[in-house]
Amino acid sequence: MSFFHNLIVLLVELMPKSLVGFFARKYIAGETLDSAVNLVKEFNSKGIYATLDVLGESIKNELEAGFAFNKAMKVFDAIVENKLLANLSVKPTQLGLAINEVLAYEHILKLVKRANEIDNFVRIDMEDSPYTDATIDIYKKIFESYNNVGIVLQAYLKRTYNDTILLNKLGTDYRLCKGIYIEPVSIAYKSKQSIRDNFVKVLETMLKNGNYVGIATHDEYLVNEAYRLIRELNIPKDKFEFQMLLGVQEELRDKIKNDGYKIRVYVPFGKDWYPYSIRRLKENPQIAWDIVKNIFSFKK
Ligand SMILES: Cc1cc2nc3c(=O)[nH]c(=O)nc-3n(C[C@H](O)[C@H](O)[C@H](O)COP(=O)(O)OP(=O)(O)OC[C@H]3O[C@@H](n4cnc5c(N)ncnc54)[C@H](O)[C@@H]3O)c2cc1C
Repeated sequence: MSFFHNLIVLLVELMPKSLVGFFARKYIAGETLDSAVNLVKEFNSKGIYATLDVLGESIKNELEAGFAFNKAMKVFDAIVENKLLANLSVKPTQLGLAINEVLAYEHILKLVKRANEIDNFVRIDMEDSPYTDATIDIYKKIFESYNNVGIVLQAYLKRTYNDTILLNKLGTDYRLCKGIYIEPVSIAYKSKQSIRDNFVKVLETMLKNGNYVGIATHDEYLVNEAYRLIRELNIPKDKFEFQMLLGVQEELRDKIKNDGYKIRVYVPFGKDWYPYSIRRLKENPQIAWDIVKNIFSFKK
């Protein structure tokens, strides 16, 4: 990250929450489940799938984990009622992983069971590295009884190739992404190209083994590399999909759709939109720069 980008990120963190909300609104479906449902209906009408995420991550106690679990359960009711082409993504720490691993496991298990009843699917998001092992363990334990659950692997982690070799043996349904948390150089690739190279290497292994992969990236280079692998390895269309975050690289999203590939948009919603929005804004220096310019024009 350049000095300039660092400076902008610092300014974004200092800005008022209302201003962050104003600029981040394209990344969030709104504060309520209804607003997310309406957006998903719009996507579905264009042939685009969704995965719904109830925002919120650092919960402080088991009670809050229970609230998060209840909100996630309601997503399935909305999916059924509205016949949405959507599934659910969950963050293990939101469901209690940082305070009680068994509780998080039980919450995710119940969500997977409910999803199974309605022929739906739960994607377990991957958070920062202190939780990687526990998240994989929860996934593996649930997968022993249910196959409508999948996991996320992050190409920036050096361990990911080995995790893939092991998880391939189970027939894992993956989402592969670069990874969004700040990790130490001892365990993570840092340069743009080394992360991309690992992404391609891991993706190739997943696809060659016949696993289903959600290819989650807005990086045109990686989309093109995925196209190449799909072509060269002759991967059938029911073995992968592309995935993107709401509000990001919409032109590329439409291109993938027009090229005839399945695409799913990650649709976050809920009252706890602030940390998610800050992460999105930090990722895109151009938006962050626009915000900084706006801050100064506000002051005039
Ligand atoms: C569906 C989905 C689910 C994800 N789940 C997880 C997860 O479980 N765990 C995890 O660690 N990470 C997750 N991520 C985030 C991911 O790890 C990356 O941090 C993020 O996707 C950026 O990497 P990129 O491959 O898009 O490449 P980048 O090189 O970061 O982005 C490529 C281009 O996309 C554009 N772009 C990227 N981000 C933004 C933005 N915020 N706003 C506007 N434009 C942008 C920029 O033009 C950039 O040049 C997920 C991403 C997606 C798409």
